[in-house]
Amino acid sequence: MTSDPVNVDMVPDGATPDARPVAGESVLEIRDLHVTFKTEDGPVFAVRGIDLDVAAGEVLGIVGESGSGKSVTMLAVLGLLPKTATVTGSAKFRGEELLGRKPKDLQRIRGAHIAMIFQDPLTALNPVHKVGKQITEAIRAHRSDMNENEAEVRAIELLDLVGIPRPEVRVRQYPHEFSGGMRQRAMIAMMIANDPDVLIADEPTTALDVTIQAQILELLKSIQERTNTAVVFITHDLGVIARVADRVQVMYAGRVAENASVDDTFHRSRHPYTGGLLASLPSLAGPGQRLKPIVGSPPSMLFPPSGCAFHPRCPLAEEICSGEQPPLRQIDRPKHVTACYFAEKLAKEVDA
Ligand code: ADP
Ligand code: MG
Repeated sequence: MTSDPVNVDMVPDGATPDARPVAGESVLEIRDLHVTFKTEDGPVFAVRGIDLDVAAGEVLGIVGESGSGKSVTMLAVLGLLPKTATVTGSAKFRGEELLGRKPKDLQRIRGAHIAMIFQDPLTALNPVHKVGKQITEAIRAHRSDMNENEAEVRAIELLDLVGIPRPEVRVRQYPHEFSGGMRQRAMIAMMIANDPDVLIADEPTTALDVTIQAQILELLKSIQERTNTAVVFITHDLGVIARVADRVQVMYAGRVAENASVDDTFHRSRHPYTGGLLASLPSLAGPGQRLKPIVGSPPSMLFPPSGCAFHPRCPLAEEICSGEQPPLRQIDRPKHVTACYFAEKLAKEVDA
């Protein structure tokens, strides 16, 4: 079998030989996902009925405070949760159900179609193996037709692509010889090695300094634009969302609070929690304006508040909010949904 090691559009071995998804095609579709952990203190209701859609060529930002269920949602989809987790609902990759699949199937899908970049590159990079070796192994796990040398050529090319200087030297080094930003780049190289259809980036810049953060965001954006990959970008920082996302899903206490275009999210938010995140964003407060952090702290998911889980912290809350959970509903804007009884009231304040 002949193969060209520098071909970017390779079809991963063992995968459905389908063409890559076309722009706009739904690649990930999550419906009514619930995740509950069994713990000594009782059940932790980490994810409580999430829907999520992401299409090829789209960057979906998921934002919410720590503990809102962002990571658990994605780990559930990829089958990476511990045995203490009970997962229900549906998660489809290009129409194919992922929940309940055999570990072997999921491993194949993770390697070839859905890749996840973590906050801490050391959770993905093995400290005892050279960086290049780890990348070539990721490649060869799905390309049995490639020999070591061909895979190394490809690894060098990937390191170059992610902006690592002197990749032919770096490929033979260990993770500890890389700086934090370089390690993050190396992990991205490894994750894009098989040209995934979906790239999940879970707070990939949080541990990095601001300049490096900006560079990594640029890099992810350029890879995304070049390859038409669908990206799910998880962060607790709306400022980061503004730089990368097309759509934004705001999560609170294991549920979706609001889902809208990035423009609507920043200018026509219809959920008080999103409003709170915006008001506490340093870059949005003008000179002389004080930041307004959201009062209180995120709830314990052992005992999530009744009704709208945000009601104990919400400036608009009324009696109804602690009763029934407000359903996610379409408001006056296209493709804009919110789970707030007072969206219309908020509209008058926000747009005024
Ligand atoms: P984040 O939005 O910060 O990524 P997570 O998705 O990691 O939040 O966590 C959601 C909730 O699930 C939190 O309350 C967290 O404490 C809980 N959780 C996550 N992993 C486990 C686990 N393995 N066992 C028990 N609870 C967990
Ligand atoms: Mg997380």
